[in-house]
Amino acid sequence: MLIDSHCHLEYEGLVEDQQGVLDRARAAGIGGFLNISTRQREWDKVVGTAAREKDVWASVGIHPHEADQHADLGEGALLEAAAHPKVIGIGETGLDYYYDKSDRAVQQALFRTHIAVARETGLSLIVHTRDAEDDTARILEEETEKGAFPALIHCFTASAEFGRKVLDLGLTISLSGIVTFKNAKDLQAVAAELPEDRLLVETDSPFLAPVPHRGRKCEPAYTADTARFVAGLRGVSPEHLAEVTTRNFFALFRKASA
Ligand SMILES: [Zn+2]
Ligand SMILES: [Zn+2]
Repeated sequence: MLIDSHCHLEYEGLVEDQQGVLDRARAAGIGGFLNISTRQREWDKVVGTAAREKDVWASVGIHPHEADQHADLGEGALLEAAAHPKVIGIGETGLDYYYDKSDRAVQQALFRTHIAVARETGLSLIVHTRDAEDDTARILEEETEKGAFPALIHCFTASAEFGRKVLDLGLTISLSGIVTFKNAKDLQAVAAELPEDRLLVETDSPFLAPVPHRGRKCEPAYTADTARFVAGLRGVSPEHLAEVTTRNFFALFRKASA
């Protein structure tokens, strides 16, 4: 069994045929789905799907692109939403300086708000970072000094140096379909060497379809393609990779086992 640790089941492209999407994934051996929030107004829908489907869990949080629209979101709103039994993660949150869709200072402040909630609830933080390695590492370091919190870097595409830094801080790293791309040699080198107990796989669907589905809309079923590719990079069987990534998922998202 594999788990898609990051998908957007409410997004256009998946939501129209959500049942079909889930059924195709289950048929491909995907036994769990973490349905990720990006805006407060979609929390109810994201959590609602998790409440309805036994093998779907939810996160609550604000994507860095949406930070400006949620500048006054306090810890209270996140804490309240996180109390739902199927909410197991906080995010996605973080910093995106590639698109710069929100003010950087607002992104940073909201990132710290999410971290405080992860620390308080013990729910894992789901970090999105793009072209913002230095500030992401600095904030994670500063906040870890204030008190530990579980966290992962989702859709990891950063440098090997950033990877080492966040592994030292105790974070887990989640690989998306990007690792299967022909031009992703550096990322493939990082993926081959990641410690086995710090590794997850995800689709970030409906985005980023892995080889051999590139150019098509991405679905959680394709977690299997990414996992098979990563297993090949690491010289292990797909079964072994499935076993360790599933174990890592439940170790990081403890509330999912409850
Ligand atoms: Zn993201
Ligand atoms: Zn995402």
